[in-house]
Order: sequence, then structure tokens, then C-alpha cells
Amino acid sequence: MMTETERRTLEERFHTIKAQIAAAAQKAGRDPEEILLVAATKMNDAERVQAAISMGLSACGENRVQELLEKYEQNAYEGADLQFIGTLQTNKVKYLIGKVSLIQSVGSIKLAECIAKEAKKREICQDILLEVNIGREAAKSGFLPEDLQTALETLPNLPNIHIRGLMAIPPIATEGQKSSRYFTEMQQLFVDISTKKYDNVSMDYLSMGMTIDFEQAIAYGANIVRVGTGIFGYRPYAQTTSVLGDLK
Ligand SMILES: *Cc1c(COP(=O)(O)O)cnc(C)c1O
Repeated sequence: MMTETERRTLEERFHTIKAQIAAAAQKAGRDPEEILLVAATKMNDAERVQAAISMGLSACGENRVQELLEKYEQNAYEGADLQFIGTLQTNKVKYLIGKVSLIQSVGSIKLAECIAKEAKKREICQDILLEVNIGREAAKSGFLPEDLQTALETLPNLPNIHIRGLMAIPPIATEGQKSSRYFTEMQQLFVDISTKKYDNVSMDYLSMGMTIDFEQAIAYGANIVRVGTGIFGYRPYAQTTSVLGDLK
């Protein structure tokens, strides 16, 4: 159970982040309403997630399928939109379809095809974002910028997915200046693709920025920011234990 102090701390953090988002938007000459805060809820239990929703949180992003399913069973996300933001293996796609409004982290043609196949089975259209490996990091997934065009030309032929924008997790910056380079590159890609008007592609969302850099991301056009630590605090305390066993 959360203590009263924990609840109050969560509420303060949540409202601080909301205020910082609004201020960053205003500074960039943008309407705060157009920026969606997706709370990265990993390792925070259902009670904490529900507490944040009761305070006005409108969207949750989970990054592990198994944890999402466990918390989904506990009604952790009730009252909010649920999105997937983490690395996704094709064999786990089937568990997500029908539960999440948006899969932000689609970094390969193969994964997109698998999502389309599972969405077809359920007779729905799944919204996705294309993840861009903007820092060209070997350890990270995502399309390299030069591979995006092929993806944007071929994927819209799949009837059960709809590309709604781009997402990136730039390399961790050591000083404030460094991630601005990647944010600039993402903003340029986003604008270029919007201008080209690919069939059945809607460049509605640019998802970038986390606790350390969401204000900067907003300055470069982000309209989805994914914030975990800034809302829930550091994560070690609330590791959820697996009740389902390993997913196959
Ligand atoms: C955890 C996570 C975040 C948020 O990270 P914080 O530094 O805790 O704000 C954002 N995006 C993804 C994909 C994440 O997994």
C-alpha cells in the first residue's frame, strides 16, 4: 500500500511535470494542449499507476509485454489510454493487439508485418509509430534514417496498420547540448516525411523526450513525451513479481 506521503509526493511530481510541459510548450510558441504526456509506468505497480490516473494522468506507456499483461489484469490502466513503448519481439505481438491504442516502438519491417497479421486476425487497425535509431547505436533497435523511405513506401500496403508518426530514444546526453543534435535530426525527418505525404501515413505524432530532456524535446517539436522517473521517482522499489511465468 502507498503511504499518504508517497501519494502526496506522486501528486507533486505529476503536477510539476505537467507545469514544466506547459511552460516548455509556451516557450516554443505552442499550445500545451497539443503535447501528450505518456507516463512510462514500468516497475510501478497497479496501485501507483491508478493513483496517477486519479490525479489526471491520461496515458500510460509500458515497455515489457509480460509486465503490461500482469498489470492489465489488475486493472492498472483503467481510465487511461495504454500504449506500448518498449522493445517488442514478434512472438509477443499477439498479446498486445486489442489492448494498446498505439505501438510506439516499431523498428523493423518484420515487426510491422507481424503486427498487421495479428491485427487482421482481430479485425482491427493498429496505430503504430516508426522507431528511428537516430544515434545509429548498435545496441538499439529502430530504422536507420536512410531506411525510413522504404518502410514508408511498403508498410502502408498492409491494411491493418496505420503509421501515425515517429519515435526515438536518442543516445543519453552527457551535457544538455548533445541531445539537441538528435532532436534536430528527428524534427527534420518528421517535417520531410510530412511534406512528402506518403499514402496512408499520418505524421501526427513525434514521440521523443524523457525525464532528463523532455523540455528540450518539446522545443524541437515533440508532441508526445515519455516520462517515468520524473513522475514516479526512481524505480527500484516497486518491481512487480511475475505471476504468469514466462510468456512463450
Ligand atoms: C522508461 C522509459 C522512458 C522514461 O524514462 P525516464 O528517464 O524514467 O523518464 C521513456 N521511454 C521509454 C521507451 C522507456 O522505456
